[in-house]
Amino acid sequence: MQPWIIGAAILACLLLALGIAARFLPPHAELPSRSSRSMGGRATLTVGARYSRRIDSLAAQVQGIFERLEQELSAYRPDSAISLLAEKAGVSSVALSEDSWRLLNLALRFDELSDGASDVTVAPLVRLWGFGGGPSLTGIPSEETIRERLSLVDSRRVILKDRTAFLPVKGMAVDLGAIAKGYAVDRAFDLCRSAGAEDFLIDLSGNIRVSGRPQWRKNWQIGVRDPFDRPNLIGTIILRSGLALATSGNYERFVEVMGQRYSHIINPRTGLPATGTAGVTVLCEDATTADGLSTSLFVVGLKGCGKLLQKAPRADVLIVPDKYPIEVWLTRGFAEVFVPIPQLASAVRILPPPLT
Ligand code: ADP
Ligand code: MG
Repeated sequence: MQPWIIGAAILACLLLALGIAARFLPPHAELPSRSSRSMGGRATLTVGARYSRRIDSLAAQVQGIFERLEQELSAYRPDSAISLLAEKAGVSSVALSEDSWRLLNLALRFDELSDGASDVTVAPLVRLWGFGGGPSLTGIPSEETIRERLSLVDSRRVILKDRTAFLPVKGMAVDLGAIAKGYAVDRAFDLCRSAGAEDFLIDLSGNIRVSGRPQWRKNWQIGVRDPFDRPNLIGTIILRSGLALATSGNYERFVEVMGQRYSHIINPRTGLPATGTAGVTVLCEDATTADGLSTSLFVVGLKGCGKLLQKAPRADVLIVPDKYPIEVWLTRGFAEVFVPIPQLASAVRILPPPLT
């Protein structure tokens, strides 16, 4: 073979590799950002160049919100209102702070909207499967234990009155994990806006909301991770100002027993970890809704998403079923803002319009 042909082939391979590598770089890496550990995950605030001098003060205020909310809402903290609610289950009602009251009311709305695919009282099952501060899983729980815990799960039984909540049966408990991070992002978003910042991105463990635009591009761009190959992306979303994204996946938090993976999202109808979905990303106008819908869509999967989306018409979704080869299902609105990596272009399918 001619040396120039070999040279050209090597150059072509190099360019291809560089092109692919560039895709995997975190977008907006050159903008000022601050990260911290918050609410059991990683929080990052990125601001447009014109706000670089204010980033430390904005990041400190955002961090303050996340810390306060974690203190109030975490089921892991024995002193939180949510832990007290579980402690007093079957005994007495508990006074809630403004945020925990609002969040509990919102959670109940999502539970109703999803026909119980999300259930804020799922905590006894979440703990049974080794999450939410429950003991580590040593084997698959027996059917009887699962049935026992299921009898404690039904958010329609939560009694709310004058900013107090009561769980009527001993053993019931509340887990706000499905929407708390999204809610925290919305509170941080409001704070940054009212502090006069226009161009910023808040990311709390994949719960994202953007405002304005970064200096050097038209809109913020967010990579969507490949649920089967974490460091890689399946594509990029171009986000208009104000919009929010949330992702629920079976790859970040799971337990493994005898080589079988169990996700931290539980199907409240069966008492078993939800299966069939590898990842769900929801795009909508606020981060609380995106977070709430991502958890319930993870439970109902591709089969049940039409019915759920019909009730939440302002949301767009991307669903990756848990099967090989990879398929990426999108609503039309999502397809308008999503650029898949070239290798996956043929794996993209448009979700049928919501059932009528
Ligand atoms: P993450 O917290 O990893 O971002 P999600 O937003 O999907 O993911 O929330 C998952 C959390 O929601 C679980 O860790 C648990 O605390 C809680 N949870 C699990 N299953 C359900 C369910 N069916 N309904 C409501 N909350 C759930
Ligand atoms: Mg969620």
